[in-house]
Amino acid sequence: MLLLCVLPSRTNHGRRFATVTTGYLVIDPPSLHAITAALQLPLLATPQQLCALSFPPLKRVCALFWFFFLHSSVRKEQREEEDTMEGLSYARMPRVKIRELKDDYAKFELRDTDPSIANALRRVMIAEVPTIAIDLVEIEVNSSVLNDEFIAHRLGLIPLTSERAMSMRFSRDCDACDGDGQCEFCSVEFHLRVKCMTDQTLDVTSKDLYSSDPSVIPVDFSDPSATESSENRGVIIVKLRRGQELRLRAIARKGIGKDHAKWSPAATVTFMYEPEIHINEDLMETLTLEEKREWVDSSPTRVFEIDPVTQQVMVVDSEAYTYDDEVLKKAEAMGKPGLVEIIARQDSFIFTVESTGAIKASQLVLNAIEILKQKLDAVRLSEDTVEADDQFGELGAHMRGG
Ligand SMILES: [Zn+2]
Repeated sequence: MLLLCVLPSRTNHGRRFATVTTGYLVIDPPSLHAITAALQLPLLATPQQLCALSFPPLKRVCALFWFFFLHSSVRKEQREEEDTMEGLSYARMPRVKIRELKDDYAKFELRDTDPSIANALRRVMIAEVPTIAIDLVEIEVNSSVLNDEFIAHRLGLIPLTSERAMSMRFSRDCDACDGDGQCEFCSVEFHLRVKCMTDQTLDVTSKDLYSSDPSVIPVDFSDPSATESSENRGVIIVKLRRGQELRLRAIARKGIGKDHAKWSPAATVTFMYEPEIHINEDLMETLTLEEKREWVDSSPTRVFEIDPVTQQVMVVDSEAYTYDDEVLKKAEAMGKPGLVEIIARQDSFIFTVESTGAIKASQLVLNAIEILKQKLDAVRLSEDTVEADDQFGELGAHMRGG
C-alpha cells in the first residue's frame, strides 16, 4: 500500500502530467502504473518514493472519493479539449456563400474556417493564380515620344484574357521549345503596326494589338451600350503625331503575380472578420434620447440607428463597422463603458474580390483553391524532393525557396 495524490496540471502546450504530492490515494505500484497509463498521465515520482510516504487509515475513504472525482474531472477536461479540437481542427468543413457576383467582382462569405486559411486564399489569389501577359517585346520601329523600354513596360501591364493560363505551360518548363518560350504551348504572339498619317493626334491602344490566338486578346473594358468614347477605345499605349510610327512584335507568356505584378489577376482581394455586436440594453436604457443620438452619431459609418417608435438603439448594419473603436471610445467618454461589446469573429470572413479582367472573379477564386490544393500536396511530398519535383516541377522548387 502506498499513498499519493495525483494532480492534473497543464503545461504551456496544454499537455497534462501528474504531480505527486503527499496525500491520499491508496494503491499498489502496479495499479498505480495502470491508472496513470489509463489517464495518460506521465508519473513524476517513482513508486519507491511514494512507498516512503505514510498514510493515516481514516483518510482512505476520502482518498478514494477524491480519486474518482479527479478521474472524472480529468475525463471531462479531456472531453472538453477533444470538443474544442473538433471545433478548430482541420477537419472542419468551410462554407462559402456568394453574396454578389459579376464578371470582375465577387463578394462572398467564408465560414467555419480559421484566419490562416482565409489569408492563404487571399494571398494565392493575388500572387499565385497564373495569367498571361506580354513578357518580350521586339521593337522594329519606334519614332514615338516614348522610349522602347517605356513602351515594353506599358505593353506588359495590359491585361490579356487568360482563361487558357491554367492549362498553358510556363516557358521555363516547356520542353517543346527548350525554354525558349516562343512555341504555341507556352506563348502567344502579338503584332502592332501603327503610323500616324494625319494632323490629328493618333492614340495607339490595346485594340491595335493583333493576337495569334483568338482566345488571348487584350481585355475589352468597353461598355457595349455606350457610344464611341474615350473609354471604349482600349488601353492607351502611346500617342503619335504626323509621321510617327510604332511597329513591334510581342510575346505573351504565362506567369504569376509573385514574379511580376503584371501577371496578378487581382485588382483587389480583401477580407474582413465578421463583426458581432452586442448592445447592453439595460445600460442603453439609462441614456436619454439625446445621449443615444449622440452615441449613434459617433460612429463614422452607419452601424446603429434609433428606432423611431420604441426609441431603442439597434444594429442596422453590423458589417458597416470598420473596427474604428469610435463608439467604444464614445461610450467610455460618456461614462458608460460596456455599453456595447464588439467581437471580431475568428471563423467568419467576408471576402471582396476584384479581377483585372484577365479571368472572371469567380474563376479567380476557383483557380486559387485549386492552386492552394496543389501547394498542400507539394508540402506533403516535400520530404521527398525528387518526387515533389517530378510531380510539381517548379512548384516544388518554389516551396523550397528556389
Ligand atoms: Zn514552349
